[in-house]
Amino acid sequence: MNMAEVKFENVTKKFEDFTAVENLNLEIKDGEFFVILGPSGSGKTTTLRMIAGLEKPTEGKIFIGEDDVTELPPKERNVAMVFQNYALYPHLTVYDNMAFALKLRRKGFRRVYSREEIDERVRNAAKMLHIEDQLEKKPGQLSGGQRQRVALGRAIVRNPRVFLFDEPLSNLDAKLRMEMRVELKKLHQALGVTMVYVTHDQLEAMTLGNRIAVLNKGEVMQVDDPITLYNNPRNLFVAKFIGSPEMNMFDCTLNAGYLEFDGFKLKVPEDIYERIKEYEGKTLTFGIRPEDVLDSLFAKELDGERIEAKIEVIEPVGSETFAHLKVGEMEILARFPPMVRVSAGESMKIVFNMRKMHLFIDGEAIV
Ligand code: ATP
Repeated sequence: MNMAEVKFENVTKKFEDFTAVENLNLEIKDGEFFVILGPSGSGKTTTLRMIAGLEKPTEGKIFIGEDDVTELPPKERNVAMVFQNYALYPHLTVYDNMAFALKLRRKGFRRVYSREEIDERVRNAAKMLHIEDQLEKKPGQLSGGQRQRVALGRAIVRNPRVFLFDEPLSNLDAKLRMEMRVELKKLHQALGVTMVYVTHDQLEAMTLGNRIAVLNKGEVMQVDDPITLYNNPRNLFVAKFIGSPEMNMFDCTLNAGYLEFDGFKLKVPEDIYERIKEYEGKTLTFGIRPEDVLDSLFAKELDGERIEAKIEVIEPVGSETFAHLKVGEMEILARFPPMVRVSAGESMKIVFNMRKMHLFIDGEAIV
């Protein structure tokens, strides 16, 4: 039997009459790097704390492996949590900070570790995290990145069944965050253990996760791998939340195989039209990612209407150029490859890659 490592079964968490998590069903696979992504207040931390045992579900069950852990206290769950404020003991050395949880276990916990075993675990973890030469220092003598590594080390030495991360990188600067992301991925590959990671940063989620659950107001919007989330968002919320810069979105009406906008219309490819005929005459939301808005000069092979656009602002960033365009009153962001040379104030012809368009009705995706 292929058991999920962490499983939520109809889990609801209420704080008095406020529902923080609503009827959550999730199966996190053994060895998976699973990300919980959502805006502030969407219930991410509450979900993570329920795995750790720091919050108890109001309804439903949580399993770790085959064990129903819903009623189990945190210390019996064999999970380790890493927070954004690393909470290191300032008066202890890096070594003792990492050894602390194992030493504690001598006093009345399930397992007792010998001095040699503790030493081996601490040194192995330190090596993995490249902090072998920092072991005698105190946390106050370390950089933010090094402190975060110590916090990770403290979790690693415990050899937990599941790692839980609550925005562990959010206190680091952008460059360090990028470095630590790679380190975390390496760590996951080396340990092969289940990791559950909470973040509000979609880029972090996309780069780290094998799969991502997108949460909104305590409810799961979609669970998928990053590329599927990007290419096939199931609803408007996911379409807007995933991808930076955001997907362009405009209202239109489906009429005789065309999407009608204010001032122009776009022909829907035949095969796609066959699938959405039933929405004739309805108001739909058309979504197109900035990279699927093309300069017609560089898209000769692409079918579709050429639309006149005014170039308002250009942002060349080297690897690509962002162009803020206007078609009538519609503002469109395009992401062009660097060979596209355009200037603010000019006009140009654009074409949409209709095979990459998204269509939504009442917030739900139909294409
Ligand atoms: P953030 O990214 O801001 O941490 P989050 O997605 O992790 O947000 P949670 O911390 O899970 O969100 O909180 C979800 C909702 O539940 C919030 O509206 C929060 O105010 C509420 N909440 C969380 N903990 C409690 C509590 N102990 N008592 C009352 N309400 C709470």
